[in-house]
Amino acid sequence: MEPEREFRVLQPIWDIIRDGREDFLGSPLFPVFISVTFYFVAVLPFMIIDLYGKEWHRVQKYKIQPNKEVTWPMVRQTIWVTFWNHVMYILPSSVAQWIWQPPIPLDPIAPPLWEYVWQISASFVIFDTYYGSIHAVFHKVRFLYRWLHAIHHEYHSPFSWVTQYLHPWELIIVGFGTTFIPWLFNAHCFTTYSFMLLNIIIAVESHIGFDFPWAAHHWFPFGIYGGAPKHDMHHYKPLTNFQPYFNTWDKLFGTYCPPMSAGGHKSAELLAFESKKRSERQKNFKNVFTVCGWLNLYVWKKLAPVRAA
Ligand SMILES: [Zn+2]
Ligand SMILES: [Zn+2]
Repeated sequence: MEPEREFRVLQPIWDIIRDGREDFLGSPLFPVFISVTFYFVAVLPFMIIDLYGKEWHRVQKYKIQPNKEVTWPMVRQTIWVTFWNHVMYILPSSVAQWIWQPPIPLDPIAPPLWEYVWQISASFVIFDTYYGSIHAVFHKVRFLYRWLHAIHHEYHSPFSWVTQYLHPWELIIVGFGTTFIPWLFNAHCFTTYSFMLLNIIIAVESHIGFDFPWAAHHWFPFGIYGGAPKHDMHHYKPLTNFQPYFNTWDKLFGTYCPPMSAGGHKSAELLAFESKKRSERQKNFKNVFTVCGWLNLYVWKKLAPVRAA
């Protein structure tokens, strides 16, 4: 066993995290505790920028919809709903888990680096498809949209606290995906917890409303990753960009809308998309107008003998 441990790059990190905290890390309450704490820590810097950094031009020049101001009542509303969901739904379900679920076994050996990387990457791809398809259904089925998803779309320009400004059932659907997808690979709990935390970072980044030059979507090749501009566009045009992270399924199913970048800049691709949609609307209007015209003529002709009589 010892020679194998020497090759585990993640072993020192796992040892630091695990040593002396086995009971805490192995408790079924730990994933919820770490997710909630991490979420609050992740949104706070962006809340400060939104509320107190309105004159910080070096930061504000990266805002995607610069004309949309974030105010304290908006932030207060999203915080209230987030706390309510966590106290009323997430806490009781995790306490129930704590009572009935046995402690999670903690392998003292860290996962191999390659296994850690591929399992997290595969979990992202599966979560992206899982939530992307549920999200599309929420938008296509009217009563599901009104009942479950409309709350998340109260803001056409998102800000960090909007990330979990969700109906509790949607929050549970998201939590189910992040908790159980790594189980498909029988992942090490270090891999599972890392995936959960990375997912929170990526979800918050999608909602910050800023297109920072260091953000991940600038680094991914072939425009396969959307990031904050893509999800900002989903809040701006809610019938587009259902996939939360990547662009593949949206492009394949024709729901992809090119995003606006920092300062509300519209790319040539987005202008072409809007012009195409405009001409489609005009064509539809012309068709409806023509059908109504012919119908009117027909009815008029049918009524002519009645009028003559
Ligand atoms: Zn959103
Ligand atoms: Zn949506």
